[in-house]
Amino acid sequence: MNKFWFQETHTEGYEVKWKIRDVLHSEKSKYQDLAIIDTIEWGKALVLDGALQVSEKDEFIYHEMIVHVAMHSHPNPENVLIIGGGDGGTLREVVKHNCLKSVDMVEIDDRVIEVSKQYLPSISSAYNDPRLRLYVEDGIKFVENSKEQYDIVIVDSSDPVGPAIQLFSQAFYRDVFAALDDDGLLTVQSESPLFYQDTFKSVYNNINAVFPAAYVYTAAIPTYVSGLWSFSMGSKDCDPRQIVSDREIINGLKYYNEAIHEAAFSLPPFIKEMLK
Ligand code: SAM
Repeated sequence: MNKFWFQETHTEGYEVKWKIRDVLHSEKSKYQDLAIIDTIEWGKALVLDGALQVSEKDEFIYHEMIVHVAMHSHPNPENVLIIGGGDGGTLREVVKHNCLKSVDMVEIDDRVIEVSKQYLPSISSAYNDPRLRLYVEDGIKFVENSKEQYDIVIVDSSDPVGPAIQLFSQAFYRDVFAALDDDGLLTVQSESPLFYQDTFKSVYNNINAVFPAAYVYTAAIPTYVSGLWSFSMGSKDCDPRQIVSDREIINGLKYYNEAIHEAAFSLPPFIKEMLK
């Protein structure tokens, strides 16, 4: 990273450049290179191992979509588990639901949590919620050993490199399945269906092999490569394309609403083809 530009390299033929005002923080944690940059166009942003994770300008799209689709389609989401998500944005959206009784969050790298609290207060604003039990450990081992039963599990992971690789595996989804109640739902961020097609397909196939039904929905998130982003779901019982009819939609959101919920599951032919 030079003083004026942050460059995110995806392939030999493609990189994205962000003009920055400053590098506000930079360190090597036990697990990854971690930085906070102040970008000209997208506000402050968290970077892990050279990959941009969240930017202040469009993080609401990602966080609202990874949380509210499952929360509005599960009949009674009282107990939620978040794996990863150390910036706190997913937690911030989960705690907006009054029906929530407890949320367990498992982030492997405490430095992501601390640095996000310091530099990204609008994203990391829910760490004081009394319903939160925060675990700093590997989410894979946590789920493997879990005795809890959750209504919803959300995997807000970084890209499949380093400690996150196994979060995309069938073995992990099998452990998640066991940790979910009979009507439980899994939601994961499943990368770009345009740019990272192999990862996208393998996440869907792995979830489909474990759950009775798998679903995909998308959102446009400019911060992430290609802008077209996917989320994949595994469901034991309910159809997440339907909002539970008596569920009140959370007020004051900036992206998610009832129409977006339904529309997000409408997939273009090239994605449907990949899911065959
Ligand atoms: N929204 C972001 C994206 O799509 O790029 C990801 C958000 S969040 C920063 C991802 C977090 O997952 C990171 O803080 C990372 O430390 C955490 N993580 C990676 N592997 C993990 C694991 N095995 N267990 C728990 N957390 C993990």
